[in-house]
Amino acid sequence: MARIHVLSEHVANKIAAGEVVERPASVVKELLENSLDAGATRIRVNVEAGGKKLIQVIDNGCGMVNDDALLAFERHATSKLKNADDLLSISTLGFRGEALPSIASVSRLRLETRAAEEASGTIVEIAGGKILSVEEAGLPNGTSITIRDLFFNTPARKKFLKAETTELGHIASLVTHYALAHPDKHWELHTTTNAMLVAAPVPSSAERIYQVFGKETLDQLLPIAATIRLERIGLPKPPPWAKPDPDAGVPEPGEIRVHGFVSKPEIQKLNRNSIFIFVNGRLIRDRLILHALTEAYRNILPPTVFPVVLLFLEMPFTEVDVNVHPSKTEVRFRQQSALHDFVRDSVRAVLMQARPAPQFVREIHAEPTAGQALSPRLNSAGAPGQAAAVVADPFALEAPELPPLPGSLAFGSEPIEVEGNAAIGAAHLKAQTFGSHVEVAPLEGADAFVPEREESCGPRIDEPDQPMDLTELTGLTPLGQVRESFILAVNPQGLWIVDQHACHERILFERILKQRQEAVVESQRLLMPIIVDLTPTQLAVFAEINDELRKNGFDAEPFGSRTIAVKTAPAGVDAGRVDRMLHELLEQFEREEQSLNLEKVRARIAASIACHAAIKINMPLAQNKMEWLLRELSQTQYPMTCPHGRPVVLRYSVKDIQRAFKRI
Ligand code: ADP
Ligand code: MG
Repeated sequence: MARIHVLSEHVANKIAAGEVVERPASVVKELLENSLDAGATRIRVNVEAGGKKLIQVIDNGCGMVNDDALLAFERHATSKLKNADDLLSISTLGFRGEALPSIASVSRLRLETRAAEEASGTIVEIAGGKILSVEEAGLPNGTSITIRDLFFNTPARKKFLKAETTELGHIASLVTHYALAHPDKHWELHTTTNAMLVAAPVPSSAERIYQVFGKETLDQLLPIAATIRLERIGLPKPPPWAKPDPDAGVPEPGEIRVHGFVSKPEIQKLNRNSIFIFVNGRLIRDRLILHALTEAYRNILPPTVFPVVLLFLEMPFTEVDVNVHPSKTEVRFRQQSALHDFVRDSVRAVLMQARPAPQFVREIHAEPTAGQALSPRLNSAGAPGQAAAVVADPFALEAPELPPLPGSLAFGSEPIEVEGNAAIGAAHLKAQTFGSHVEVAPLEGADAFVPEREESCGPRIDEPDQPMDLTELTGLTPLGQVRESFILAVNPQGLWIVDQHACHERILFERILKQRQEAVVESQRLLMPIIVDLTPTQLAVFAEINDELRKNGFDAEPFGSRTIAVKTAPAGVDAGRVDRMLHELLEQFEREEQSLNLEKVRARIAASIACHAAIKINMPLAQNKMEWLLRELSQTQYPMTCPHGRPVVLRYSVKDIQRAFKRI
């Protein structure tokens, strides 16, 4: 039975209109979404030349009957929407009925489809929007759409396409993330030479992450799962003309569920490309959620870097308006602030609970070129069979296979490099990248790093690696300082290196916040008032936060038109630093685009006082002072990073040491 119909003009006019075909990845996105809407459980994508030459999406979904196969190319022809009311609760990824005609108008398209209930299938060929042929044919159940020569008839748009590797990178990222959102389905992505992704169905997102990115990535992520009941307020009312349904009863407010993964604080990305947010299975970009994430990582990550996030939000369809933007990547939430706070608090709670310590061997180097994150691990070139074998047993104990060919990861934009400590087999750690496949150039003598157990001279020690947890920070014995800046300490878990400044900063930061809460911040009266010159903008910011500054131990009064006189400063801050500190603080707020909230103001002020009052580097410390610092640190709520997000401690676990000495 035919399912597709052309929407009435009335409904069509209510749909956010616009061009959806921007680049190969947008074609792939529309086709994937159609396959998912068609209930497919297997989706295979083939591309050539970054999608410029060929894009093919093959699914085993419901297929289309003969009449529908032609109707699908009419504007506003869809099987997913009937009337304007349906727009209020869209449960499918598509609903506009525009993707296929748009794509067909700028490419050579071949559709092969058969609905399960029909004996034969249909093949339609279209070029530049003109139907060339329609044939009946014996076909497998499902749909295959092949797009050749995208933009062949619109050279202007073709010119805007980027290099093949860039376009391929976008496609790979897209397919990968849809694969992550639907672990229960079988996904494949192939180029002419590579099986880039072959992922058999698995029961959980964690297993899918393992399949796609490997253990390394999974270890750097923290799972998140939380639910909140929606308040009744704000629920959309049925339209006045709708007949009330006597059996319906009071509408259930439903709930919002969030699950997915957020990265540990030691993972730092230079842009937001590694943040993926899905709402009801749809990949979206959303400022509100991004803001909630930034808030969650406040004082855990430095403000200029970003985490890796895979967030799946599930909510009643009536809670989210997806008819906002033609490419359906922007949405509007009905209960914005409730959702914002829910996401922020859930992520924050996971981060606080995990308290993971950065590993000694994983210092992150922020590279300005860091780009596409979470790009899929490439399976070995041209060997799909082998690739399938690799994924068949995703929980094999070995780390996922390394590709035999160095440089086969051709996405151009590399994620941040993770560099190894010299003691830990440089060849092994040399080029580990987060979220992409590990590329290891076969270095000369690299085998030397593989422990040969049988021949090792000492007894083998085989203990499981201790999980990273900063409760281990208790009982540290300081040994001394490196360059009068970093405290070396030991405990049974291993060797620790503590940044003395960052450590003291963290201690003071938490203490100041606590004192502020109890309204007992310590301050000192300055011998002479300090005169600070401010710009007009700084003066405005000062006026805005002065009340809070006073509660934090600053007492300043206007002194002339552009000057303030500071009479009292927070305890521990040298009189000589007051000027600089105030300037830094005011400048920070000046740069802020978002409006200030009290919590943020307090945290900034506390971080600034802590920074200026803390012990500096290049400062010798007596044994008892080091002991005090370590003890106090172990009692902080969040000891792994300073308020600016830099790591406070690095750990070299016993296992790392044993490994380096080839005892395991
Ligand atoms: P929309 O997805 O917004 O409805 P499209 O132009 O993407 O609009 O697709 C038009 C119609 O074609 C869909 O409503 C659906 O009925 C049908 N269709 C498209 N792709 C598939 C597919 N892979 N399997 C089954 N039906 C499909
Ligand atoms: Mg569609």
